[in-house]
Amino acid sequence: MSVQVVKTNPILIGLTGGIGSGKTTASNYFRYLGIPVIDCDLIVKRLWKENQMMVKQIEFSFGFSISSDEDRKKLAKIIFSDSKKREALNQIVHPFVFLEVEKEKEFYRDRQFIVIDMPLLIEVGYKKLVDYVVVVYVNPLTQKTRLMERDNLSLEEVTKRIQAQMPLDDKKAFADVVLENETTIGDLHHQIDSFLRGLRDEK
Ligand code: ATP
Repeated sequence: MSVQVVKTNPILIGLTGGIGSGKTTASNYFRYLGIPVIDCDLIVKRLWKENQMMVKQIEFSFGFSISSDEDRKKLAKIIFSDSKKREALNQIVHPFVFLEVEKEKEFYRDRQFIVIDMPLLIEVGYKKLVDYVVVVYVNPLTQKTRLMERDNLSLEEVTKRIQAQMPLDDKKAFADVVLENETTIGDLHHQIDSFLRGLRDEK
């Protein structure tokens, strides 16, 4: 008797959005549903601690040693106010992040879905490497209000942070699926349920 082995690849869901638009809130729900989430913010944090090769490259490129919180604040200030420097940092960090994403993907290869939570997915061209681009969208007023509350920042500070990013409306244009996060978290969950139902029905 022969056994037929059918190998399927997981469906890759690229989750993205703007600062404070609700990516973490959405990814927490995917996790709650038992779907693995690869968290790129977490990967970057881990790389800073564990990947000396990456840190050395950054130090070389920026010309100072980065080991204390003060050094990191100095770097954040530089890249926050200078888009070319921000790009230079991204050019160093992203290849390391992509490698880690590949490793984690391998770990979940037998799963039906994998969510890749990548804030800069569109900017770095990762769109072509996922099956669905899901953008968590809020209008600018809601985004500012939630950010001010979460991070205890002034309107001026949150406006600056939002303006340093690609406009959320532009990201929306790249989306296969838009999760409108304007009302309740429950409503966001319903939209995710409905998206996953659609994917399961397609299979
Ligand atoms: P960042 O880019 O800064 O990591 P994010 O996109 O992960 O942010 P979240 O942290 O999920 O965004 O959400 C931002 C804030 O808005 C949080 O305090 C969260 O609890 C709140 N929030 C998210 N969605 C809703 C909602 N539908 N209703 C009310 N509050 C919400």
